Amino acid sequence: MQYDLIIRHAQLHRHQNPVDIAIKDGRFARITASLPDNTADREIDAAGRLITPPFINAHVHLDAVLTVGQPRYNASGTLLEGIQIWSERKPTLTHEDVKRRALEEIRWEVAQGTLHIRSHVDICDPNLTALRALLEVREEVRDICDLQLVAFPQDGILSFPNGHELMRRAMEMGCGLVGGIPHYEWTRDMGVEDVHYAFALAKEFNRDIDCHCDETDDPHSRFTEVMATDTLQQGWQGRVTASHCTAMHSYDNAYAFKLIGLLARAQVNVIANPFDNAVLQGRFDTYPKRRGITRVKELLAAGVNVALGHDSIMDPWFPLGRGDMLAAAQLAIFLCHMSGYEEINDILDLITTRAARTLRITDHYGIEEDKPASFVLLDAPSAFEALRLLPARLHVFKDGREIAHTTPAHSFLHRQNEQEAQEVTYRP
Ligand SMILES: [Zn+2]
Repeated sequence: MQYDLIIRHAQLHRHQNPVDIAIKDGRFARITASLPDNTADREIDAAGRLITPPFINAHVHLDAVLTVGQPRYNASGTLLEGIQIWSERKPTLTHEDVKRRALEEIRWEVAQGTLHIRSHVDICDPNLTALRALLEVREEVRDICDLQLVAFPQDGILSFPNGHELMRRAMEMGCGLVGGIPHYEWTRDMGVEDVHYAFALAKEFNRDIDCHCDETDDPHSRFTEVMATDTLQQGWQGRVTASHCTAMHSYDNAYAFKLIGLLARAQVNVIANPFDNAVLQGRFDTYPKRRGITRVKELLAAGVNVALGHDSIMDPWFPLGRGDMLAAAQLAIFLCHMSGYEEINDILDLITTRAARTLRITDHYGIEEDKPASFVLLDAPSAFEALRLLPARLHVFKDGREIAHTTPAHSFLHRQNEQEAQEVTYRP
């Protein structure tokens, strides 16, 4: 058999020994210990390096990325000043402006191995400028990235003029998922109604749901339980995601225990966003300051599916970042106290296989025979080393075609008594 490509000696996550991977017509054709008798148009010797399915950014705001400093920097660094700055920037959004920034950011993510992105789009704009632009972007990037769009009511469905109508129009225009923001509505009752409306719209248009939910330090913000209950009552199990859920950090343990059980029963996915959670939560605290990320470890232990998002990249809420999901995963290790050896291995799943379950793409995702040949070859031998080093993504393939490559950086030390510079590898 003549293949298009063979990757030799590639290390799969949680496998004992390296494998040879043959690709034909854009799909994984053979994955086996060794393919000595086969040839291909191109061969890559992975030399024991880690190969993973594409990374997934399960939560980002592509309409806001790369706007940091416009019209001003966030002086306090808080969520509320971020929302204020965004409301000042929003009137100046144009079709071309949104497209240019989103396309640039997607290029960054793809170059780092992220080929599936779920982006929220702020629909609290009578002209829906950002949505129109991102619907075009979704089509234009199909050769390098699968983009899901969520109708996100940043200023509320009930608290913003014509919020219901704007959500509905977003669905009619082809937005893929229904969003919500119950904790930000003016009252508890309006927050409950926000969730109910998201479910009604999702049922009407047969769409999945991904709401920003309980993104606050307020332990009395309890809308995730409403999402879980609506999921059970509407029969939407597996199709619902609660994003952020940072208030869960501050619930008393008895209530958190009850809620986590309910989420598991309703098969609600949870998405944590380590960068934004780390900088935006705990801002009203003196000392001690809460970490403010949801209970990732406890959710996983209870059988709840958890994924990670980058959330912001150089926007009013988080000024730094370059869209690297491995960096987001590394931060989750610290914030969630998941530095046990197996826990570090588990974290990789939150930006790959678990995120694929959240995005409901598992039928065409993963390094398995007959599935599309999309993968990342990293300059590290294991998930543990990948999360330690954040190494170069040497080769990024989508459907059997190389769509990005990176040449790793090399460091050298110049000692006084040595003639030649010595390389520093950062490996013990
Ligand atoms: Zn968000």
